[in-house]
Amino acid sequence: MINKPKGTMDKLPKEVAKWRYVEEKFRDVCQRFGFNEIRTPLFEYTKLFKRGVGETTDIVQKEMFTVISDANLKKYNAGHFDLDKKGFTLKPEGTAPVVRSFVENKLYADSQPTKLFYITPCYRNENPQAGRLREFHQFGIETFSSISAMTDAEIIAVAMQFFKELGLKDLKLKINSVGCKECRPVYNQKLKEYIEPKLDHFCDTCQGRYDTNPLRILDCKIDSCQEELITVPIITDNLCDNCQTHFNELKKSLEAFSIEYEIDHKIVRGLDYYTKTAFEIISENIGSQSTVCGGGRYDGLVQEVGGPEIPGVGFGMGIERLIMTLEGENVPFPEDNTLDVFIITLGEESKYEGLKIANELRKNGISSDFDHIDRSLKAQMRYADKMNVKFTIILGENEIKNSSVNIKNMITGVQTEANINDISKRITELLGGK
Ligand code: ATP
Ligand code: MG
Repeated sequence: MINKPKGTMDKLPKEVAKWRYVEEKFRDVCQRFGFNEIRTPLFEYTKLFKRGVGETTDIVQKEMFTVISDANLKKYNAGHFDLDKKGFTLKPEGTAPVVRSFVENKLYADSQPTKLFYITPCYRNENPQAGRLREFHQFGIETFSSISAMTDAEIIAVAMQFFKELGLKDLKLKINSVGCKECRPVYNQKLKEYIEPKLDHFCDTCQGRYDTNPLRILDCKIDSCQEELITVPIITDNLCDNCQTHFNELKKSLEAFSIEYEIDHKIVRGLDYYTKTAFEIISENIGSQSTVCGGGRYDGLVQEVGGPEIPGVGFGMGIERLIMTLEGENVPFPEDNTLDVFIITLGEESKYEGLKIANELRKNGISSDFDHIDRSLKAQMRYADKMNVKFTIILGENEIKNSSVNIKNMITGVQTEANINDISKRITELLGGK
């Protein structure tokens, strides 16, 4: 017996029905907002993520799955393969690959803005727990070429509309601005001056971040670190005029979209490329891994991966956490797809006749099945009942001789007589002419 790797999930048919439901809903909402789907490879050059996600992030420092072919592994062991230059990494997030594709395919040469969405698996070598997996999935969207805060608000509006249409209620939107390359260094300096005298009161991770990524100290989850930050200078009090105006316009645009928000000065996102807007959408009922959606603006990223100076803004949403939130709020999923027709057969000859009828029904868009494992009449009926099929047809020697069957509605019990050659037509009528 070989088990699935730790931190991965099998999605059995019942679960897949939920996934397809949220995926279809996401596609539908994105298309209504004018976004088009993009699909990028499962793996990219490692250097894309090092550059595009950032050397100081948790993802690049400790969570990436870097893969190597057997042939290259031999070369690598012999010291002849440069992993930094030629290595591949399974995508840990969706934004960097989309930006790479935007640049490589020169999508910026088309009419702008470019509005893209994706549905993708992601891979991170984390400690698996509820809502934190090694293989997980993301919905994401990105808009390129607009600096307007209305675009940031529209990104948030897509997520909020999607949640609303799924029937979610207990979600909170938290927004912040992390400034730009002009004002953030000034704030970082202030932050470091505030932290420096009590640096040894902070956890090891925060101490490590003091030099490399001080902003990340703000979102440390450890209580004792947060206690040290009670009187920390607030980033939105330290923005340059440009970022301040942008933040004000974001708030105004959210209000125009009728979206409620809370300002949270501790939302900084883990990724280096964020500028100005940073936001998170938090679920109140899925425990500690409560961030369902996170995103923001990344005006420096396109250039960072070798493209022109083009701004971008987007979000990534964890699908596993989304489904946990839906289950946590007892939001109903649509009914499972059940078979339209099950053909109960009696005797050798009727089996072949049953197969023919099922095949005919299937060709006409009606889902149907027949007994595959030689069950008794009673067992076939029990099976049809258990499978919640909509209609059953009993097919024996008499029915074949008379070319006539009874179609039984399994919910109402009502039986309808039909000529064997008309079954497809009659079932279509009974199903409401689908
Ligand atoms: P966290 O702080 O929870 O680690 P993050 O900042 O690493 O999140 P992002 O990189 O912004 O997360 O990813 C966007 C979304 O993807 C998250 O809000 C979350 O819903 C989901 N996500 C991230 N990591 C995982 C994981 N290991 N397992 C399941 N979902 C995840
Ligand atoms: Mg993380």
